[in-house]
Amino acid sequence: MVILDGKATADTIKGEIALQVEEVIRKGGKRPHLAAILVGDDGASQTYVGHKERACKQVGFDSTLIRLPDETSQERLLAEISKINGNSEIDGLIVQLPLPKHIDEQKVIEAIDPKKDVDGFHPVNVGKMLLGLPTFVSATPAGIIELLSRYNIKTSGKNCVIIGRSNIVGRPMANLLSQKSNPGDCTVTICHSRTRDIKEHTLNADIIIAALGIPEFLTGDMVKEGAVVIDVGITRVEADTKSGFKLVGDVKFDEVAPKCSYITPVPGGVGPMTIISLLKNTLIASGN
Ligand code: NAP
Repeated sequence: MVILDGKATADTIKGEIALQVEEVIRKGGKRPHLAAILVGDDGASQTYVGHKERACKQVGFDSTLIRLPDETSQERLLAEISKINGNSEIDGLIVQLPLPKHIDEQKVIEAIDPKKDVDGFHPVNVGKMLLGLPTFVSATPAGIIELLSRYNIKTSGKNCVIIGRSNIVGRPMANLLSQKSNPGDCTVTICHSRTRDIKEHTLNADIIIAALGIPEFLTGDMVKEGAVVIDVGITRVEADTKSGFKLVGDVKFDEVAPKCSYITPVPGGVGPMTIISLLKNTLIASGN
């Protein structure tokens, strides 16, 4: 069994991006600049935005964090996005999700200039991805594709089961893995909360991607010998740690890992790779 080390892979790729940035600057080019908007003070969101800012610094990008209070109106947020859309200094913009309940997330996503939408959530970018055209691919699925690629995992002709059909993980993942590409060329099944017998599907899967947000949902008896298991889930559960919580994935690691050919850990698997996709998309958005 091989652990797919997302942290180490991400560190390697950050080194590669940093070299590219140095080269751009040496040639008199523009330093890539990512802006993030964070509305409210949700603990997990603050942590994720903090990781993204730190990653920008590590590769030599400029970054700007705009913090807005929880009670920010939708109009105010849209005005902020419009300002950044018009700011030629800023190449990429992300709005950290989830947003407070009184704000319409889809309206916000659609307000971002598709050319700055480095999260790849705008309908224009989603549409291009569906057609297999070059675009900003949603960061988590793109990170998983990169991880499979770096570990040379064969996907062609494999049965792949994805648990979860969200717009940001499950569905784009299913699309990418079913495309005529490498990694890709999979026969993909999407499972969700209405699927009758998930185990029936996962037992037939060569590759399982668990993205439902239920801690330790995928147990050992649901996985066949030699499967590749990618755990996207991150749930904060209370624990006797300094922070008072720990991060738990959607896979019951101790049971599932011994049966796998490859498996991602949580933390240190998909999470760091998601940030890599953001950096890569920002580099592209900056014209480099
Ligand atoms: P989401 O929008 O809540 O979607 C969850 C999906 O799981 C839905 O399609 C839902 O089905 C399905 N589901 C829920 N309960 C189920 C069950 N009992 N059996 C089968 N399917 C079930 O979540 P998300 O945004 O995709 O995120 C999923 C997980 O990944 C979360 O833990 C999140 O924190 C994590 N995540 C991690 C990263 C990373 O960088 N590592 C990035 C994004 C998300 P229905 O559609 O039928 O409701």
